[in-house]
Amino acid sequence: MPEFDPHTHSIASGHATSCTITDMAKKAVSLGLKMIGITDHGPATPYSCRPSYFRNLSFSPRERFGIEIMIGAELNILDNGGSVDLDHDILKHLDYAIVSMHPQTFKPSTAADNTAAYIRSMKHPNVKILGHCDDSRFPVDYDALVKAAPDTATPSSCQATAMGRNISEIFAWRLL
Ligand SMILES: [Zn+2]
Ligand SMILES: [Zn+2]
Repeated sequence: MPEFDPHTHSIASGHATSCTITDMAKKAVSLGLKMIGITDHGPATPYSCRPSYFRNLSFSPRERFGIEIMIGAELNILDNGGSVDLDHDILKHLDYAIVSMHPQTFKPSTAADNTAAYIRSMKHPNVKILGHCDDSRFPVDYDALVKAAPDTATPSSCQATAMGRNISEIFAWRLL
């Protein structure tokens, strides 16, 4: 049983859930988790929150109902250059970020181009997880991703099923 779910979405992501962070902490208690990471979608996702939400997250309580709360974001990779949708001066106040490809904000390309985009998106030190890069709509070269990941990366370290989802995060590193 995992003790930490590093990839969760609150109502601030604008779709799929109406849960607040407090609701999520309560659910985490019932699941026996010790820690959750709040990783709402970046502002490029339609109907998601604005950059100011992420700026303010760093002032929110880090513990609710005995659950430790990490604050993060699930960034959108926007182009083959690996651009993401939050600026560095907001990212640096978060504990970590996930970088993901989503059909609304990234046009699928070849495995070589998708892989290059992931690798370029890793350049900010707070990027610590490559989100659901087992999505067959966005083929990637896993060997190249492993090679490009920092030395401290732990491939396949994070299978995020705790909150009832089944999302494979292929790499997590320097997170704890
Ligand atoms: Zn997500
Ligand atoms: Zn995602």
